[in-house]
Amino acid sequence: MKVCVHCGVEVVDRHRRPVTELYDTQLYAKSRILRLRECRACSRTVDPYLEQEGTLVLLDIALQSQPVLRHVLVNSDHNVIVLKMVLLTIIVDGYCRLVAYVPVPVTVLAPYRRNLMYRYLTEIRLFAEIDSKS
Ligand SMILES: [Zn+2]
Repeated sequence: MKVCVHCGVEVVDRHRRPVTELYDTQLYAKSRILRLRECRACSRTVDPYLEQEGTLVLLDIALQSQPVLRHVLVNSDHNVIVLKMVLLTIIVDGYCRLVAYVPVPVTVLAPYRRNLMYRYLTEIRLFAEIDSKS
């Protein structure tokens, strides 16, 4: 079963049968051109992550966007990327919890304030606090 990564609706062909590929197989058989299917519900490309590099997919996984999670968990058969996603989530979550709960004196944090990873994780923590209050 393949789903639209944007709205989650199952992808069907012209005859309302579930598809096995996310591109137009008849066009590919005739001309060797890959054209991704459009969703009948939201009129967007069903899975644009098929055309993107693995690095961009991993970055979106780190940001935990819903479309990329649908791509990885439902539409693709890549067990390796799922393991990378789990490992990356555990590392980022563990680091966020470490930064959030370990009291660190301000003088110790000063050299790390210029570090981009520290800033990124601090912003994630702030968003999580705002989200938990609402
Ligand atoms: Zn859709």
